This record gives sequence, structure tokens and C-alpha cells, in this order.
Amino acid sequence: MSEKLMEVDVAIIGSGPAGLAAAIELRKRGVEKLVIVERESEAGGIPRHCGHPPFGMVEFHRVLTGPQYAKRLVDQAMKAGVNILTRHSVTRILPAGKLEVATPEGPITILSKRVLIATGVRETPRSTRLVSGARPLGITTTGALQSMIYLKGLVPFKRPVIIGTELVAFSSVMTAFKGSIKPVAMIEKNSRITARHPCQLIALFKCVPLLLNTELKEILGVSTVEGVSVKDTKTGQSRIIECDGVIFTGKFIPESALARISHLKLDRASGGLEIDQFARCSDPVYFGAGNILRPVETAGWSYQEGRRVGGLIADDLENKLPIINQPEVLCICENPIKLVVPQRIISTQTDGFKHLQLRVSRALKGELIIESDHGLVWKKKMSILPERRILIPISALNFSKDTKILRVYFKE
Ligand SMILES: Cc1cc2nc3c(=O)[nH]c(=O)nc-3n(C[C@H](O)[C@H](O)[C@H](O)COP(=O)(O)OP(=O)(O)OC[C@H]3O[C@@H](n4cnc5c(N)ncnc54)[C@H](O)[C@@H]3O)c2cc1C
Repeated sequence: MSEKLMEVDVAIIGSGPAGLAAAIELRKRGVEKLVIVERESEAGGIPRHCGHPPFGMVEFHRVLTGPQYAKRLVDQAMKAGVNILTRHSVTRILPAGKLEVATPEGPITILSKRVLIATGVRETPRSTRLVSGARPLGITTTGALQSMIYLKGLVPFKRPVIIGTELVAFSSVMTAFKGSIKPVAMIEKNSRITARHPCQLIALFKCVPLLLNTELKEILGVSTVEGVSVKDTKTGQSRIIECDGVIFTGKFIPESALARISHLKLDRASGGLEIDQFARCSDPVYFGAGNILRPVETAGWSYQEGRRVGGLIADDLENKLPIINQPEVLCICENPIKLVVPQRIISTQTDGFKHLQLRVSRALKGELIIESDHGLVWKKKMSILPERRILIPISALNFSKDTKILRVYFKE
């Protein structure tokens, strides 16, 4: 039996805020043959199972919960005539915009003039965090917990410990209470929370003890979780906290499984797609938008980025983007700068991404510096915390035409 073939102008992989926003923009720009491919049974991406506010303040001037926000985006896309194929999983991406897709009716192939990859991020699970102990039931991530509580009505435990203090950890506090779960502690190995002040008030109001300078050493229990062994990072003393579950939060990684087995280049620093300032991948048929580009941004940011990239794809279909084979400047970051996006720049006069986006891996005070192979290009004194968005206007980078590399580093 011959495999079904679908031919389109643009295929979008992922129906989160980035993919939906791009699709709506492409429809506005008159692109007719457009499809979103989504592996889940409903469109909307991560916000679908973030059953708490605040979402949608910039896009809809309202404070919405995640599911309300996702529904509005999906409704907008449907109204714009976007074809969303749910329960369709892209299993391979190949040169020339060829996608292999698994569907409930069997495999199909999509051939697309341009492809947007908008597959988002996920949290690092226990398996890759190298935590000792057996594999008892009751260990999860915030994403999996949200999906259990908000989408399936399941309650996996009653007294878990939450590991980490990124924003999403406080989201897991709210999710837990929604399922009548009472976390016994939230632990953070550093001396301050990773999320912004005053997120710790969420833990305080919900009476969840926040233990700073505390590191997880081992998960105890054989068939179900019975406790965790933790160490005070200042005194070195260990103790046991009794609990019946563990929620690993944050430490986001781009959902780049598809790209990893493809011909596309990945950026080792961000773990996401390597792109130029017009969001084009190493194969310019492919584009990237949303959290596949970097861990991690908000839904609002991903939506805006999706819209922008949707516009760039429409420009490209009309041959309005700069040609790809002109000399590019490579942006390289040095520890403790964790990532820089986009990684390739053609020009400082840009209708593409307006900024270099940066993240650092620890709290820093000093000077952020960008140097080319010819000398200083940009610098600024600053204090930066991890997981904060840092934006540098591309138009402010003063580099000469024969520049090959921009080195982004921090002097403490
Ligand atoms: C657990 C968790 C909680 C979060 N909580 C918040 C929050 O409270 N507020 C906030 O602003 N941000 C939150 N975020 C950040 C979140 O990533 C952004 O809000 C936003 O969802 C990013 O949009 P996106 O379109 O890039 O990706 P996503 O929303 O992640 O959408 C990606 C979509 O791609 C689909 N997909 C992936 N691979 C394939 C494939 N091979 N084939 C077909 N479809 C595929 C996925 O099913 C998914 O629907 C959270 C993230 C996580 C992981």
C-alpha cells in the first residue's frame, strides 16, 4: 500500500503558543496551504495543563489560566482557517522539507516548502539527574504532575518533596494544592530561590517549608517513595525528610529529539536549534521558534516569537529574506554565559530577531563583554541572576564587515 502524501507551503511542528501564533500570522499574510502537526490529542501545548494564572496579559489584555489561554489561541487559529492535525507525531525530519508522520490511520509523508519547528521544552527527569536510590513509584516532574491533576484527575501522592525553586516549582505548589496534595518541603541547593522575588511567598502562604542550602542526595523506598535524604550544603550534615513522592522541577531542556536525529545543526550551549537572526536553521527550509530555541521563556514570549517567525517565513516565501550564503558572524558564548541565541548574524540592520538572547549559569556581578576577532564590540556593567532573560540589541553591535566571530563573555 502506498503511503499518503500531503503537500503544503508551510508545516508547523507543535501547537503550543509559538506554533499557533506563527500559523495565525502566516494565514494573515495569505499563506493558504498550511498545517500544524501536533502529537497530543488536543492543541495548545504546555499551557493546556498549567491550570493557574497568569497567562495572556499581553496577547488578550486579560489574566487567564493556562487552559483558557490555550483555548483562546486554538480558537483564533481555527477561526483563521488553520488546519490542525492532532494525534499526528512527526517521527523524522529530512532535507527538502520532508516530514515522516505517524498518525492513527498509519504513516503519512508531508512535503513542505518551509517547516517551522516549535516543539517547546521539557523538564529534566530524575533519570538524567543521577540521583541515587531505587526506582519507587511516586517520582515525577511538574509537567507530568500537571497533566495528571488537570487533565486526568489522578493524584499520585499526598506528601511530596519539591526539588528546585525555578518559577515552575512554584507552579507545582499550586498544582499540588489543586489535587489536595500537601508538599512537605521545597528544597534548593543555593542560598536563594532561582525564581524572582516574591515567588517564595507562594510557598509561605501555602505553608510549604522552603529549605535553602539543601541538596537532594538519595530517594528512599523500594516500591513507593518513603523519604529523601538531603544534605545541608553549608554544614555538610545529612538528614531524612519523610515523604511519599518527589517532584523534580525545572532544569529545562529544549524538546530537540527530532532535530538530534536529523541533518539540522544543534547548538551545544542551548541544547536547541542553531539559527540565524531570521530564525533559519542550518537547512534554511527549516525555521525555529518558541522554547525549542532556548530553555526557558514564558508563553507570552513564545507567542510573540512565533508571530515574528511566522512573518519571517512569509517573507521568505516571497523571497524577501537576505540570501543565506553571505558571510555570517558566529556568536560563541563562554562559561558562565550559558547560551546565546541566535548563534549566527548576517547584519546589524535587521528585520529579523532584534536581540541576542543570553542566559547565565550563576549569579554574576561585573561586565558583560562582546568581542570580535578585531576587538571590543559591546560591553555593559551588570549584575545578573541565573534563568533571567538578558537582551542585547543586535543593532548596537558595532562589528566590521569581515568579522567572523563574536565572543560573548563575562568579566567578574
Ligand atoms: C512543566 C512546565 C510548566 C510550565 N509552566 C509555565 C507557566 O506557568 N507559565 C509560562 O508562561 N510558561 C510556563 N512554561 C514554559 C512553556 O514552555 C511556555 O509557556 C510555552 O508553552 C512555550 O511554547 P512553545 O510553543 O514553545 O512550546 P509548547 O507549549 O511546549 O508546545 C510544543 C508542542 O509541540 C508538540 N510536539 C513536540 N514534539 C512533537 C512531535 N514530534 N510531533 C508533533 N508535535 C510535537 C508538543 O506536544 C506540544 O504541544 C512551562 C513549561 C513546562 C515544561
